Amino acid sequence: MENPKRVFIVDDYASIAVVAKTLLENAGHEATIFTSSTEALSEILSQKPDCVLLDIMMPGMDGLELCRQIRKVLSPSELKIIICSSKSFDYDRVQAQEAGADGYIQKPIEHETFIDQINAVTSDDVTVRFWGARGTLPRPGRDTNKYGGNTMCVTMSFPQGQFFIFDAGSGLKYLGDDLLAQGRKRITGRLFISHPHWDHISTIPFFAPLYVPGNEFQIIGVAQGGTSISDQVKAQMGGIYFPITIREFGAHVHFLDLHEGTYEVDRIEVQTMLLSHPGNCLGYRVNYGGRSICYVTDNELFFADSEFYSEEYENRLTAFVDGADVLITDATYLDEEYPGKVGWGHSCVSQVVELALGAQVKSLYLVHHDPSQNDDAIGRKVDFARDLISERGSSLSCMAPLEGQSVVV
Ligand SMILES: [Zn+2]
Ligand SMILES: [Zn+2]
Repeated sequence: MENPKRVFIVDDYASIAVVAKTLLENAGHEATIFTSSTEALSEILSQKPDCVLLDIMMPGMDGLELCRQIRKVLSPSELKIIICSSKSFDYDRVQAQEAGADGYIQKPIEHETFIDQINAVTSDDVTVRFWGARGTLPRPGRDTNKYGGNTMCVTMSFPQGQFFIFDAGSGLKYLGDDLLAQGRKRITGRLFISHPHWDHISTIPFFAPLYVPGNEFQIIGVAQGGTSISDQVKAQMGGIYFPITIREFGAHVHFLDLHEGTYEVDRIEVQTMLLSHPGNCLGYRVNYGGRSICYVTDNELFFADSEFYSEEYENRLTAFVDGADVLITDATYLDEEYPGKVGWGHSCVSQVVELALGAQVKSLYLVHHDPSQNDDAIGRKVDFARDLISERGSSLSCMAPLEGQSVVV
């Protein structure tokens, strides 16, 4: 164990506390159980463990009050507080955060994920996962096994339990299967749609968690003319293109239209910008705990000598992604493919590298690969980008994500 932690567990249910203690000790941490919150408070303040796990519903002082009392004395940098509760309402998560908790784990404790959840909170990690990174069309086949064949779907998981999904390409099917396999009772998430071209919405009707009562999703996007995101999804599932309608969703599903701006979504700052693409297409910048992750697709960056080039747009986009820790962006074409595709709304790789260098981005993820590209072609695109970056003497890291790959930010 590289970094063993001292963890105090405060739970009036001894059997649950013992499960948590066993899992923590098996992972190399040190764990102590308290069944009384009053006794726990004095021990926490005097012994200052690295992390405390608090149940909400306890006799006497409840977990949220205990959390407030601890926070009067110890800051998050001195001690992490995780609320561990069977309550799965958004209201309770918000209350926990307002009381000073750093994380929220929903009971029952999942043996497979519990330690990862603790580690994510104690290190305040955001996990970005790529479920699909292809553009335009799914592209299954032996020659796309390395980078995967599914269209766009990327998730961000935050320590306090927020779960953001970006785009509903065919990769969303695998995310849905993964979520259901976890056996979680109540799944909540925000599904951000960049724009309603097929490759970004094709799998909304096939996202199984939308049909499970008790789950809750907000589908977020941008209106197209007078057509709201809600009407876009209703039309997709209106009977002509899919046999069942959104009335069949068992989950509580609600919709939110965004414009360009700065928003707070599930207590996390999200900025948006309209991109260079036919119709309204939103790029997203998520700012969390001093880090920024940008999801910018679909988008065409024109060469400076093109009649379509706009310096004003380039400057605005550079400012939008400025200093991002992660930029996930449309790099559909190899440069030699681009001349026949000008004006189709997608970028070639050299222009994407220029954007990332100009904005001093830390890591660049090339996505939305053209359907004609196999793994070798995507590999050449990455090599070409890396050569450009090293010619410029930059430390920018650049890759094409593998399907299923997770990155901790
Ligand atoms: Zn697309
Ligand atoms: Zn598009």
